[in-house]
Amino acid sequence: MALREIVKLPDPVLKTVSTPIEAVTDDVRKLLDDMLETMYEAPGIGLAAVQIGILKRLVVIDAVREEDEPRDPIFLVNPEIIWSSQETAEYEEGCLSIPEVYDNVTRPAEVKVRYLDRDGKPCERHCDGLLSTCVQHEIDHLNGILFIDHLSRLKRERVVKKFAKAAKQSKEPA
Ligand SMILES: [Zn+2]
Repeated sequence: MALREIVKLPDPVLKTVSTPIEAVTDDVRKLLDDMLETMYEAPGIGLAAVQIGILKRLVVIDAVREEDEPRDPIFLVNPEIIWSSQETAEYEEGCLSIPEVYDNVTRPAEVKVRYLDRDGKPCERHCDGLLSTCVQHEIDHLNGILFIDHLSRLKRERVVKKFAKAAKQSKEPA
C-alpha cells in the first residue's frame, strides 16, 4: 500500500465527472487499498478516487467515529443511489480536499446504494445517519460536485476565493 497525495481546491480535476470501472481487477484493489490508507492517514471518513487525481468511480468509507472501535471499511465500486428518503437530515460536513472548512448540509436522511465490493460482487446497502451523509458526499465527488456546491452562492464563493488566493500566494516566490 502507498500513501497518495490528496488533491485540494481549486484544482479543476475536482469538478470533473469520473468514469465507471469495467472490472474489479488486482490493480483496482490496489488502488482501493491505497485510497483507504490515504484516508486513514489524513484522517478522514471517506475518500473518492478523484481526490487523489484518478477519475474512476471508486469510493472508500469508514464512518466509525469512536477511536476505540475497530475499523470497518467499505469499498464502493461504481456506486449509485437507487433510493433516497423524503425525510432529510442536516450534518456539518467537511472535505479532505477543502481543509478547515465545515458547514451544515441538508441531504436525504436515508439512502440505498448499489455498488460492487472489493471482490467485484454486486451489493446493496441501506444507509442512515452519518454513513448516509458520507455516501452521498462521496458519490457527489464522482460527479464533480463538492459539498460547498450545496451551500448558498455567497458562502461557496467565499470559500472558492479563499483557496484561489492561497494557491496563488503559494506559487509566488517568497
Ligand atoms: Zn469530500
